[in-house]
Amino acid sequence: MVTVLNHIDGRQVPAASGATLENWEPATGALSGSLPDSDAADVAAAVEAARRAFPGWSATAASERSRLLRRLADALRARLPELARAESVDTGKPLSLATALDIPRAIANFEFFADAATQFSSEAHPTDGRALNYTLRHPVGVVGCISPWNLPLYLLTWKVAPALAAGNCVVAKPSEVTPVTADWLGRLAAECGFPPGVLNIVHGLGARAGAALVEHPGVQAVSFTGSTRVGAQIARTVGPSFKKLSLEMGGKNPTVVFADCDFESAVATTLRSAFTNQGQICLCGSRILIERSLYPRFRDALVERARGLRIGDPLDPGTDQGALVSRQHLDKVLSCLEVARAEGGAVLCGGRRAEVGGRCLNGWFVEPTLVEGLGPDTRTNREEIFGPVATLQPFDSDDAALALANATAYGLAGSVFTRDLTRAHRFSARLQSGIVWVNCWMVRDLRTPFGGMKESGVGREGGMEALRFCTEPQNICVQL
Ligand code: NAD
Repeated sequence: MVTVLNHIDGRQVPAASGATLENWEPATGALSGSLPDSDAADVAAAVEAARRAFPGWSATAASERSRLLRRLADALRARLPELARAESVDTGKPLSLATALDIPRAIANFEFFADAATQFSSEAHPTDGRALNYTLRHPVGVVGCISPWNLPLYLLTWKVAPALAAGNCVVAKPSEVTPVTADWLGRLAAECGFPPGVLNIVHGLGARAGAALVEHPGVQAVSFTGSTRVGAQIARTVGPSFKKLSLEMGGKNPTVVFADCDFESAVATTLRSAFTNQGQICLCGSRILIERSLYPRFRDALVERARGLRIGDPLDPGTDQGALVSRQHLDKVLSCLEVARAEGGAVLCGGRRAEVGGRCLNGWFVEPTLVEGLGPDTRTNREEIFGPVATLQPFDSDDAALALANATAYGLAGSVFTRDLTRAHRFSARLQSGIVWVNCWMVRDLRTPFGGMKESGVGREGGMEALRFCTEPQNICVQL
């Protein structure tokens, strides 16, 4: 059993009330530990600690902040196998994925912002020889970082690293569903020498601990990644207080496959994009749009590959598909499959809870599922499922593909497969997606702006965008 604690003012502490929540292992459906059921009092203690630490941390030389961030990256790297295992057990994702993606990307977040801390600069605007305008960028103070369960350490560090690099103090609220690697992060930060109060981590329910963090007047900026429903709630709360707000929310991303694509590469990448992490990545391509002349061949190849994915114990190195993150999420995904059938969808493969024997007999597994025969107005093609479920739709022209691709309220990411470069550029620019990949998926460059349009997000994270979000610009105009 793993006992997760809050990390407040440099110390590991339980919730002041002593209340705890249960944590469950998705692959076995068994209890795996506990975490603090924090409330407004714990959040207040964390914000106070952050406020006390802020004058010292914000005045610390950028080179020193950079050194500490890099030391934390090194500490994570030294524990990579243990962290990957903890992430796999906590989320149900394959250990191979946590080892290759989650933890390395968390490390890269700290390394990137360790460098960025020393490279961040601001602008000067000489005004016709009459005046000199220059812009200072001050850290905002205390940043509240709220993260989801699908890539726990990776997305938590994506927010924490730039906030610290820019000289802010942080109060983070990780997902209550996957708290374990955040507990490691707090302990490792203390070991690495971060001053008490600079990084605080408060565990607990969104509606209690998360809401208290968003509402706290001592928090100057809120960076949230999670569902559009909760993002809207946070925006309503934050609005009247005028805190800075960054929202990274849901997606229903199109994968657009033209007949002139590199077939083998497009099939392999579309499969990965639909089913990596059991489809539980905001960037997953859950609507696969295929030019009609290629449709039967592409569909058949994709179905065959999806059937070949190995569902199994996440700790088994041969496993492609692990468990869904929670019992509640399993029920949600299964109910979405019922909706797809009721809407008239034809299930081409999967469509059911998967049975994995041995220690995973009671785990929360779902077969990789492909559905065809549903139009753009169905719930299945409009609502985020966030599981191993993707739909297939044929199209006849570029314009028809674009209309289908843009036919949801979301606008996070999209992929386009074609060998025609002109089409690739033109089509990508017309997609209502914050991020577009051409002939690839989830290739990452930390310098690029990351985020969604429409109901997928407000603001951008990543690279200098994140540092701009974490700072308050102040323009000073000097008459010459
Ligand atoms: P969620 O919205 O349920 O929870 C996200 C976080 O918000 C959790 O820490 C939760 O405790 C907290 N929270 C919940 N209610 C709150 C409230 N009232 N006030 C403050 N905090 C609150 O999302 P989830 O189920 O953990 O994650 C899945 C969702 O996240 C999907 O919609 C997915 O698309 C989205 N996501 C988006 C991105 C992106 O970059 N755009 C990345 C990953 C996941």
